[in-house]
Amino acid sequence: MKIESRLAQIGSIQEPVTGAVSFPVYQATAFRHPRLGESTGFDYARTKSPTRAVLEEAAAELESGDAAFACSSGMAALQTIFALFSQGDHLIVSLDLYGGTYRLLERIMSRFGVTTSYVDTNDIEAMDKLLQPNTKAVLIETPTNPLMMITDVEAVCTWAKAKGILTIVDNTLLTPFFQRPLELGADIVIHSATKYLGGHNDVLAGLIVTKGKELSAEMAVLHNSIGAVLGPQDSWLLMRGMKTLALRMERHQYNATRLAEYLQGHDAIAEVFYPALPEHPGHDVQNRQSSGNTGIFSFKVKDARYVEPILRHIRLIAFAESLGGVESLMTYPAVQTHADIPEEIRRAVGVDDRLLRFSVGIEHADDLIADLGQALEAARREIAGEVTA
Ligand SMILES: *Cc1c(COP(=O)(O)O)cnc(C)c1O
Repeated sequence: MKIESRLAQIGSIQEPVTGAVSFPVYQATAFRHPRLGESTGFDYARTKSPTRAVLEEAAAELESGDAAFACSSGMAALQTIFALFSQGDHLIVSLDLYGGTYRLLERIMSRFGVTTSYVDTNDIEAMDKLLQPNTKAVLIETPTNPLMMITDVEAVCTWAKAKGILTIVDNTLLTPFFQRPLELGADIVIHSATKYLGGHNDVLAGLIVTKGKELSAEMAVLHNSIGAVLGPQDSWLLMRGMKTLALRMERHQYNATRLAEYLQGHDAIAEVFYPALPEHPGHDVQNRQSSGNTGIFSFKVKDARYVEPILRHIRLIAFAESLGGVESLMTYPAVQTHADIPEEIRRAVGVDDRLLRFSVGIEHADDLIADLGQALEAARREIAGEVTA
């Protein structure tokens, strides 16, 4: 069955008692045993919970994995994955990384003796040089956020397999609707389901999807032992959001392309970073490994003085962190999402004071263009001294 149909039907035929089309929220944390040595399959909700189980089954299937684990946030999912590693282990990680993942690795995992090297994951030679006998995994984001750099997932997986290490892919920005890293050879996929999968800026959640029996069994132990699991209400909200994922992603992609093209032609804009644009350096790899583009892109204004007035004058587009929801949000990575990344690393990858990130929602593209247009014009007038702020 096509992915659109599978998404729309999540949970709809799994409730045998009443036939409820929307799978119920099972709030119970304890489950009665029929008799000694017998179980309904549910014992205690941290280990397995009915509403969460339906979500996890759907997530595993959508990502072509063997098992999925719903967590209380994307960061909880990453922490659960990192618990695979032990003191003395080493990780190789994408250079232009989500700020929270960087903070978790540098402030917390480092205290447990897990070290990390950051690299452009398209540069296999550089990754070879960083490889140590204790290297256990490579973690990639593609596209990266905020600079939208594309990594060839298959190339990294082939390299990692040859070296006997795991490949972990953060698939938050594309979702299984557009990209399925496990089909390209990855071992683990992680999602901040708070973003596109939930899609409405109203539920915080994370997902882990694993490939392979042994790895899936190990992850089940970690998920249950750490206990950062997703509650029943949030599991239901996430499933509810996922049912419309296909429609939303198509519209996000369409709108982002329209807006990126608009900004490319605007004389206040220096550069637009969006893999759907033919001149993007990752365009061909992106087209090969994904069936579409995310709704996020970033752009640089020519003059940093534009940033403050743009963020003050946008009306329909909200100045807010996060991404992937139906509402358009704009953020300033250097002082918000990426503030925890040291300035020299930020500058080296290009996250500077002229960069804005745009999570394009599902509003009408004409309205978004009009809003951004008036904000840019208001900013221009202030900078030119025609009006005062
Ligand atoms: C938001 C985000 C995370 C963290 O997820 P939370 O749900 O906020 O904990 C991890 N990776 C990426 C790419 C993200 O955008």
